[in-house]
Amino acid sequence: MRKYIGCDLGGTNVRAAIVDVENGSIIHQMSIPTLARDGPEALMKRMAGLFLQIVEWAGMKKEDVGGVGIGVPGLLDLEKGETLFLPNLPGTWPHVPLADTITKHTGLPTVLLNDVRSITNGEWRFGAGRGVDTVVVFAVGTGIGGGLVINGQLHLGIAGTGGEVGHMTIDYNGPTCGCGNKGCLEAYASGPAIAAMGMKAVAQGLSTRIGEMSEYDLNRITPELIARAANAGDQIAQDIFERAGFYLGMAAANICVAIGPRRIIIGGGVSQVGDLLLNPIRRTLRERVSVMPIEQVEVLQSQLGKNAGVIGAARWAADTL
Ligand SMILES: [Zn+2]
Repeated sequence: MRKYIGCDLGGTNVRAAIVDVENGSIIHQMSIPTLARDGPEALMKRMAGLFLQIVEWAGMKKEDVGGVGIGVPGLLDLEKGETLFLPNLPGTWPHVPLADTITKHTGLPTVLLNDVRSITNGEWRFGAGRGVDTVVVFAVGTGIGGGLVINGQLHLGIAGTGGEVGHMTIDYNGPTCGCGNKGCLEAYASGPAIAAMGMKAVAQGLSTRIGEMSEYDLNRITPELIARAANAGDQIAQDIFERAGFYLGMAAANICVAIGPRRIIIGGGVSQVGDLLLNPIRRTLRERVSVMPIEQVEVLQSQLGKNAGVIGAARWAADTL
């Protein structure tokens, strides 16, 4: 079985890994700083160099590699292998022929996939979604990304845009989101939204250990710190995760009635807090959903962590090239 290269193009780092796409194991991995200010041409050249180097460092030949899958943060033309809009990179990369350029420099066939759909694919094939045919992933971090697997297929929708679960409307009168809509889930349950609830509690002078633990420096309040306070028995910290889990549970309930998933996977940095966030999601689902067998839906923490994206992108390359 040939190996594939999976890549995660991030705003800060570009990670690449040689992946055994049969079992999802990483054989070798490397990362370089993105330095996106140098522009697409320079970055694509450095990415191509990274891919060739990782093959060499793994003691392999180019012929042993089936191709490259790149997880890209933004909108893509999947058929042309072009980027359309990458909001986090300078210049936003309109109509940049990323796949063809990598192929030109490396000789390796290359496909693109949205970065969070890559994570979804990785978790479904080799992580918490393994063995079932319908899965929802919520990646809870700075924002909330996601993806869907429906009836044994990674769901793409128009140009791979299906699965943006962080932008489901939770409150139609809610605050304006970065996407332009009002009341998106992301504004209620992302890492910054959870941290903001902690900051508010401290700023209001409420009696909570979040204050002491952050030494009353609001900038030090993170979801992890709030989780430590909650695990130490702090009621306000526990309530914050109850609320975030409730909102995630509302969004998950809407998806359950729409697609009847077997598993709901919570990933991203914030998912490290575990049951503190997962239990209120489970409870909300049981309270809200009665038109499908909600007791058969499992809510699980992601398993592949930061490797999900490169593993999922490599497997995507293997399945589509
Ligand atoms: Zn939004």
